[in-house]
Amino acid sequence: MKLTRTVVLESLPLTKRKFEAIKEVYDEYSEILEFLTDYAVENKVKSHLKLRKLFYENLKEEYTLPTHYYYTVCQDVVTRAKKFLELKRKGKAKTEKPIIRKVSLWLDDVLWDYKRFPQFNALKDGKKLLIIGLTTKRGRIKLPLKPHKLFFKYLNDGWEVKAGVKLRLIEEERKVLAYFVFEKEFDEPSPSGNFLSVDYNADNVSFGIQEFLIQVRTDLGRLTRFYSDVRKRIQETHLIGWKRKLPSRKGRKLLKKFGQRKRNRRIDLQRKLAKRLVELAKELNATIVLEEVPKNFNQKIMGRRKKNEKRLRDTLHNIGMNGFQKFVTEKAVEYGVPLVFVNPSYSSQVCPRCGAFRVKPDDDALRQRVFECPVCGFNLDRDFVAVLNLLGLFPFSLKADEPPVEDSVSPVMLVVEANLLHHKNSLIVISQGLQQK
Ligand SMILES: [Zn+2]
Repeated sequence: MKLTRTVVLESLPLTKRKFEAIKEVYDEYSEILEFLTDYAVENKVKSHLKLRKLFYENLKEEYTLPTHYYYTVCQDVVTRAKKFLELKRKGKAKTEKPIIRKVSLWLDDVLWDYKRFPQFNALKDGKKLLIIGLTTKRGRIKLPLKPHKLFFKYLNDGWEVKAGVKLRLIEEERKVLAYFVFEKEFDEPSPSGNFLSVDYNADNVSFGIQEFLIQVRTDLGRLTRFYSDVRKRIQETHLIGWKRKLPSRKGRKLLKKFGQRKRNRRIDLQRKLAKRLVELAKELNATIVLEEVPKNFNQKIMGRRKKNEKRLRDTLHNIGMNGFQKFVTEKAVEYGVPLVFVNPSYSSQVCPRCGAFRVKPDDDALRQRVFECPVCGFNLDRDFVAVLNLLGLFPFSLKADEPPVEDSVSPVMLVVEANLLHHKNSLIVISQGLQQK
């Protein structure tokens, strides 16, 4: 499996002459991008080769860019056009034409000196600058970029830089941001050893092996509810005029800000948790067991929205699962930790002790998120039950006729708060403590 990572480097402030040379290219590039994107959307052109064939001669006549910019701008255009057409197909496009807000210059292996990457200049204080040569209308100019720790990590860990680099301009500071993409091929190890199974839902993530179960309270559901309250208040207080129900410009800005903030916090937490989990699995020499999520999961929920509000509330518990699973998968691949997906059907409806099937919780139990077995009386947090069942410790065979064995389920259990995830190896340390008990 191939993983890719984007790394952003900032340049030093550039001289006026250099910045103008880039700006010149940027302005022409933006102009071309705008009209070609309109054309591509109108005519549903989805191949950059086709687009280039149609326009290459005209572009060369009317503009004076180094020719490879005509290649990359066509790729940029087609990427945007495809995205827009897809939105339109789903009925999510808010405008007739795509709106181009941010433009970055797409470079290929000819427009910067890709083959000589990485070249450094040593500064007096021992620090290094990464130098890349950029082709402009005034010839090649050198861009001094400030590499950081992460950049060196990828470089030293054998990640390869890709030829496609994007440049964004910060006009006020006469700087550029360079977006490098690194990629690396990883082997996918086959499952072996122990199993560490993980149950995800909005307010907590539970996981464990035979000896212990841990629940991390993420409160992502609460976070979502908190921010949706904030958003509701904004919607109520920032209206155009005094009667209409549309948020004002400031209101829209605030809404966007809070939406973004919620997303950032969720993603940050999920990433950390994924990393800690994979660290733990590596340490335990375990295979991670995750629930299979249907591919069109989110769409399915949206479709159901009007029909079944209660169902929606249940399903909301799982929102963000796709993202979380993606983070876990990527980290697992990077760390060489094997991963399996299992069908979660009934994982929280089977009694882990006696195997009683389809235990339907009553309303009270559902509210408290407890599992109670009507056959053998076993009771436990529902999410821990899911973990146990995912572990497959207790095959889903009907054993209800046999007398339950008292000690058959006895892992140590612990509930922890999410802020502990900030510390490296925190889950490993905790699990070691639990295993000694
Ligand atoms: Zn039971």
